[in-house]
Amino acid sequence: MGLKRVSIFGATGSIGQNTLDLIGRDPARFQVDTLTGGHQIDQLAQDAKTYGARLVVTAYDDHYQALKSALADTDIQVGAGPSAMKEAASRPVDMAMSAIVGAAGLEPGLTAMNAGADLLLANKESMVAAGALTRTTAQNNNVALLPVDSEHSGVFQALQGERRDTIERVILTASGGAFRDYTLDQMQSVTPEQACDHPTWAMGQRITVDSASMFNKALEIIEAKELFDIEPNQIDVLVHRQSLVHALVEFHDAGIIAHVGPHDMRHAIGYALYSGTRAKLPLERLDFTKISRLDFAAPDRQKYPSIDLAYQVMHAGGLMGAAFNAAKEKALDAFLARQIGFLQMSEVVKSVINTLSDMEHGFEDALNLEHILGMDALARELALRVCATQK
Ligand code: NAD
Ligand code: MG
Repeated sequence: MGLKRVSIFGATGSIGQNTLDLIGRDPARFQVDTLTGGHQIDQLAQDAKTYGARLVVTAYDDHYQALKSALADTDIQVGAGPSAMKEAASRPVDMAMSAIVGAAGLEPGLTAMNAGADLLLANKESMVAAGALTRTTAQNNNVALLPVDSEHSGVFQALQGERRDTIERVILTASGGAFRDYTLDQMQSVTPEQACDHPTWAMGQRITVDSASMFNKALEIIEAKELFDIEPNQIDVLVHRQSLVHALVEFHDAGIIAHVGPHDMRHAIGYALYSGTRAKLPLERLDFTKISRLDFAAPDRQKYPSIDLAYQVMHAGGLMGAAFNAAKEKALDAFLARQIGFLQMSEVVKSVINTLSDMEHGFEDALNLEHILGMDALARELALRVCATQK
């Protein structure tokens, strides 16, 4: 089988740390090549030593000295800034975990696939902003694109041995996030601190707030369309408080295969790390005698306008996914900085989408990285302007 060389982009984050945990348990199979991170230099240096990385890179030039001195007594190579990040992603490894948050994760993932690595994709923003390009890049390089998002890993697992053209419907579940028991009125005045309190999953700050607004689910709907090449009307969402059923796939014959498991990302990460095979993983086992109920309900579209926006974006096609993700990132920044309210995030995104919907752009553009990045930049600029007018 041989040793697998693995790079992790976004190693200091929630997904990155869970990935290292699994890799560290199987040194006979995995060798860490490169770790990248952002501001958490101590963590990055510590992990580089613990896991025997060859190269460690921070995305920010300013942190170079700190990282260099933290690793002064080792022979681990150190880099910082955009060109070092690019070089890090170009190294010849067997697999790369794409676990940077936001559109910043797109290019490292593409670069890694172009260098021949299988891509373990936690960075859902890649599929939203550049689904067609990401898929085509995997195909052209003959590398695997393995979903890590729990719902998509669940769908992927349910589809093993099945024909894609027998899929009737894919249902993604959502916990409902921090405000699932709030009324729309109560949601008007919630703070970033309240939005960061997730009822079931422990994740990075940004995805946690996106769960509370269901922008996370909106991104995941688009991610599912792009990953599994299905139509928007084949994707549904159900709020499922217990977060134990992660996804369901309904087939033409009315049979449904559901993916059930503990809410621990190491399950989905492990399935991708072991290339779609079932390794023995150190996870809690579900005890069905202790699970008294599983609840499912349709999401409240008024509380969560982000869901309707996802369908609007999919129907628009072209570069609208890139615009949607970028506008959402800016709206989230503004909410976290207390410049706009929680519910205003979807108003900002909607306004940007509506403004851009008259622009001509099609499938060709969706395969062009420069056009994607251009649309991303334009949508960010527009979102900033719209945020400034909100009060
Ligand atoms: P996180 O905030 O915990 O970690 C993000 C990582 O990205 C950190 O290592 C950070 O240093 C790095 N980073 C941030 N901005 C960067 C930039 N501009 N350039 C380079 N590096 C940067 O995030 P997370 O929760 O681990 O999520 C990572 C990705 O995985 C996201 O796309 C998220 O949507 C997806 N995801 C996460 C979970 C989860 O359970 N955490 C589940 C499903 C999908
Ligand atoms: Mg998910």
